[in-house]
Amino acid sequence: PPRIVIAGAGHAGGSAAAFLRQYGWKGGITLVGEEANAPYQRPPLSKAWLKGEATAESLALRPARFYAQQNIELRLGTRLEVLDRAAKRLVLSDGTALGYDRLILALGARPRALPLPGADLAGVLALRGTIDADALQAALKPGARLAVIGGGYIGLEVAASARALGAGAVVIEREARVLARVAGADLSAFLERAHRARGVEIVTGAQVQAIEGQDGAARAVLLQDGTRIPADTVLVGIGAMPNLELAREAGLDCGAGIVVDLAARTSDPAIYAIGDCTQRPLPLYDRAGRLESVPNAIEQAKQAAADLCGRPPPPPEVPWFWSDQFELRLQMAGLAFDARETVVRGDMAADSFAVFHLDAAQRVLAVEAVNAPTDFMAGRLLVAKQARVAPDLLRDTATPLKDLAA
Ligand code: FAD
Repeated sequence: PPRIVIAGAGHAGGSAAAFLRQYGWKGGITLVGEEANAPYQRPPLSKAWLKGEATAESLALRPARFYAQQNIELRLGTRLEVLDRAAKRLVLSDGTALGYDRLILALGARPRALPLPGADLAGVLALRGTIDADALQAALKPGARLAVIGGGYIGLEVAASARALGAGAVVIEREARVLARVAGADLSAFLERAHRARGVEIVTGAQVQAIEGQDGAARAVLLQDGTRIPADTVLVGIGAMPNLELAREAGLDCGAGIVVDLAARTSDPAIYAIGDCTQRPLPLYDRAGRLESVPNAIEQAKQAAADLCGRPPPPPEVPWFWSDQFELRLQMAGLAFDARETVVRGDMAADSFAVFHLDAAQRVLAVEAVNAPTDFMAGRLLVAKQARVAPDLLRDTATPLKDLAA
């Protein structure tokens, strides 16, 4: 029987293995993963796990027995090193070779490194996997001083968790506002206020010059304007780089990620790619892009498994994402490309609202909700339907959103 090898045992790879069995794949499935863990969820690493509120079991994507029960072979602690497309053969870090009939690349992304002096000092950390999270948790004792370089979601979440652990936290952002690349200005401003009100210092428009150390350990972050921010732990959270080098060297089409279609097929008919390592079509927005989210990893895992099992492709989903910071639950759906107008529904001062982004024709492009799950769900439907809604109706909390989506 034909064998599928899945390279990368993260959220996308682990989900693909499960969907393949669910959709009736009878052949072999081998899941090759560099990390020692079976597939697990990363979102808690900056949230519940960091605060000591999650266990290894609660992190796991499936219970340990699942893989044996489903006849999914796990090759963990093993890196894919060579991809030979002509021979349909892989070479792994343990020296073994592995043939495949179909290959799914689910290699994820890695933290972007900080190209500045002091980045190699002890106490300078990044966050992607459980090993990183354990090191960060050990450092964030009460009284510790954390500096986060990069005001993205991971940086803000870790800053919030650090405060909960009794550590001090400073977020240093190069742009004029946090989340500049991924959120609207209203949400950025709200989060800056929320963090400051809860004891996180936020410095925007700040260029880091170096991390200064003493005896090999980080002591401060030095900004270009001469400001020195004392810190014993520095989290570098300046984005992630897709792991696409193996695919590129093997000659697969690559852009911002490994280029795939809506069935997760690459430019080689025997090879699929899913998750953070891909550049995928965004059908609602008439363009392609890279999404870094659990819902995307699961959607693309479904696309690949469906195609491999001869099923029709699942209907495209609205991209969405969530983040938890303090007692704030953020839920975002859609992408605000070409947005012309924003409408706030609800009460920002009461920490419960949704921001809608509309295009020139008043179509709902995206929604960003804070502690407003009902408006988020209805908003996501408006995005999916590319509904045109008058801003006054959106703003009017007496009009239930689900009536507008109907
Ligand atoms: P990964 O889960 O990274 O899996 C890729 C795997 O491939 C890794 O285990 C890697 O070690 C392995 N690998 C890489 N190269 C090789 C190789 N050559 N050989 C073998 N194995 C290899 N998303 C949300 O939607 N909501 C959130 O709140 C959220 N919070 C997050 C918090 C943190 C701290 C992080 C790091 C991410 C968060 N994300 C969140 C993003 C989400 O976790 C990712 O989008 C998701 O994990 C992507 O799945 P993936 O399988 O593509 O990549």
